[in-house]
Amino acid sequence: MAPSRIHRLIDLWLGTEPAQRLRLRQTSLAMALMALCVPMLHHAVLISQQARGPLLWVWTAYALGGMALMYAAIRSGWSRRLADPSMTVAQSAFAISAAALGYAQAGPLRGAVFPVLTLILTFGMFQLHARTAITLSLFALTLFGLAMAVMATLQAEVYPPAVELGHFIMLACMLPALAVLTARLNRIRRRLAEQREELTRALAQLQAIATRDELTGLPNRRQMQALMDQELLRSLRHGHHFCIAELDLDHFKRVNDLHGHAAGDEVLRAFAQASQSALRATDVLARWGGEEFLVLMPDTPMPPALAGMERLRQQVAALRVDAGTGEPISITVSIGLTGHRRGDTLAQTLERADQLLYRAKAQGRNRTCSDDAG
Ligand code: GH3
Ligand code: MG
Ligand code: MG
Repeated sequence: MAPSRIHRLIDLWLGTEPAQRLRLRQTSLAMALMALCVPMLHHAVLISQQARGPLLWVWTAYALGGMALMYAAIRSGWSRRLADPSMTVAQSAFAISAAALGYAQAGPLRGAVFPVLTLILTFGMFQLHARTAITLSLFALTLFGLAMAVMATLQAEVYPPAVELGHFIMLACMLPALAVLTARLNRIRRRLAEQREELTRALAQLQAIATRDELTGLPNRRQMQALMDQELLRSLRHGHHFCIAELDLDHFKRVNDLHGHAAGDEVLRAFAQASQSALRATDVLARWGGEEFLVLMPDTPMPPALAGMERLRQQVAALRVDAGTGEPISITVSIGLTGHRRGDTLAQTLERADQLLYRAKAQGRNRTCSDDAG
């Protein structure tokens, strides 16, 4: 069969939704095991020289029909209305009942049912809470105890009471161990989930550290570089224009010298906040280093970019920062603004912005110098 055809058949059997596929894969495995048990039990009845009576056929219909119903309930989506859409408890309980009924008919080969019972309870280990697993184990012990008692009474020559008592005691000792293992597996699962959550949190924190400037909370140089690279690609694809401005605080060294480094930091924070509020939501302000900042204005021609920078410059000049040093601190900013030219590299555009900033400083600071590239 062609692989695509096999895939289609598998999709038909399991559906396409990942959660459903996982459930149905588990149920399919259980069904396959149950299907294997049917000829086994028929074989067991045959070699015990009993006739294959109606009871065996009733059991066969019960075992196969029950599993088919479980599959249908999950595949149709009906089980989604349940607290556990995988129906793990229902499937386990049903399989335990089929195993106990099989045990009552298997005669000398009934020992083969014990590994099957263990396997059924193992299925639950991956999904059940420890308490549910214990309840299921008790349920198994009760059903098997009943099967043993009834058969020891009805067919003492095949099911000698002393042997059945031994079987029962062995089961009673082993099943609690399974419950303990389930609890342990539960703990491991819970710890894994917690660790995954911690890792996700740590990753988010690392991302913030890697992309944000600690002092101002603005995107840092690395993040800005990535954003500009992206914008360059976008502008190449769509042919739109973007502007970049380089900002440098005027005589900032004096602020530090006069008011102290901590006050300087406070001024940088205030500057970032004021500048941000002067910009449009699509513009990006980043700390480029020290008291230098960069503004990226995507999809913006020169006239509105220049208006935006002037607005920012005036807002900064009007700012009075209270850094707790007595009188409020005033600052001004010089800006070099340029439009990216098609065919240029980002480095060339940044170099132009730098030259324009230099010109703004030379012309007396607190001003915006732009070229007419836009
Ligand atoms: P100009 O108008 O020519 O730009 O003068 P300026 O004093 O701003 O220029 P200069 O580059 O000489 O000084 C920049 C100062 O910015 C020096 C440095 O101590 C200060 N600075 C850089 N980063 C920080 C920071 O994170 N916090 C503080 N408080 N100061 C900083
Ligand atoms: Mg500087
Ligand atoms: Mg400066």
